[in-house]
Amino acid sequence: MTELLERYAEVAGPDAVAQLRQLAEPLKGMKVVHVNSTRVGGGVAEILNQLVPLLRELGVNAEWHVIEGNAAFFTCTKKFHNCLQGAVDRPSEQDLAIYEQVNAENAERLAPVLKEADVVFIHDPQPAALIRHFPERKGKWIWRCHIDASHPDRSVWRYLRQFLKDYDASIFSLPDFARALPHPQYLIAPAIDPFSGKNCDLSEDFIDAVASDFNLDRGRPLLVQVSRFDRFKDPLGVIRAYQITKRFFPSVQLVLAGGGATDDPEGGMVLAEVRAAAAGDPNIHVLELPSDAHRIINAFQRLATIVLQKSTREGFGLTVTEALWKGKPVIGGNAGGIRLQVINHHTGFLVSSPEGAAMRIRYLLERPDQAQRMGEKGRKYVRENFLMTRLARDHLTLMVALLR
Ligand code: UDP
Repeated sequence: MTELLERYAEVAGPDAVAQLRQLAEPLKGMKVVHVNSTRVGGGVAEILNQLVPLLRELGVNAEWHVIEGNAAFFTCTKKFHNCLQGAVDRPSEQDLAIYEQVNAENAERLAPVLKEADVVFIHDPQPAALIRHFPERKGKWIWRCHIDASHPDRSVWRYLRQFLKDYDASIFSLPDFARALPHPQYLIAPAIDPFSGKNCDLSEDFIDAVASDFNLDRGRPLLVQVSRFDRFKDPLGVIRAYQITKRFFPSVQLVLAGGGATDDPEGGMVLAEVRAAAAGDPNIHVLELPSDAHRIINAFQRLATIVLQKSTREGFGLTVTEALWKGKPVIGGNAGGIRLQVINHHTGFLVSSPEGAAMRIRYLLERPDQAQRMGEKGRKYVRENFLMTRLARDHLTLMVALLR
């Protein structure tokens, strides 16, 4: 067994790895291509960074390609994203023309790879229209939706559906997100990699150094939310919850850490709003980090007393998984994939308002033993359900089923 697989066996158990090897056997040498729209930032990039090497280790000829787009393209796809999550910020005719044009250009660039692939996974709406340019494709094409599409704007869904209907299958993270499409749909929750920079163990020295670099006092309670600066992540609600908490725990500190995903044009605007709301309070640390600051984020999550993910919509919320894996209780918005992970009163609390979040923060700060027990449950829950080995198993099973 290779070194990487041995390490997975240590964390997830030897049976999990033996099963992966067995499932990968009929897929050895097959060309599997993943396409998304950014190599860094956001949950999809995080997953592909780990999943693709693991599939390769198992003998599958997996590749990861990223579509290239200009600012106007990403403005349009951000509107898709917002509208699929229920907003009504519809793209204009001109936006849609740019979307189709950029997909056409990428189709031409990626044609040699996509034509030959046995299986193609297209992630989210950005590259969804590529399929139109491959009417005589050889492989099976699967659309992987990472978004909370439970209540999409109808006209945007109708537009995207014209491309999505041609796929051979689609994957959603939760049953609530699945849409009526004329092909098999699969439910697969995302996962984290225990060995990535984001999740690996860190030395106390490194964690101390991060605390001191960012002026955090390890002797005082710390609330942390790691997220792109996106309204659906509700950073302003987090500040509000912190402000309420401060009345009871004046020493509390807050870190809002985020960075730019290259496919997210709204980040700057939201960041400015967050900075304005935090102005004048030296205990709120609004941090814009580079997209490769994995170990620093890892350290923030370990420094946290409580991790927040107060999203009002959330496809899955890898940040929740990352926090639970580090033994932290999570107070999360009662939305999308957070519900799969925050088991109310067990691994954390689900909340629907800043006031509710503040109440739960206060509850946990007053009961450190209970916070610790919740964290321990959370880590166990992630080990059983949300590690990369489980995601690889689901992907392999799906491919075996589709290629049969
Ligand atoms: N992340 C990061 N830097 C940031 C913000 C987020 O590396 O500044 C990572 C975060 O740790 C997580 C992923 O990006 O692994 C975000 O995934 P999630 O599913 O929580 O949200 P998404 O951004 O996909 O909506």
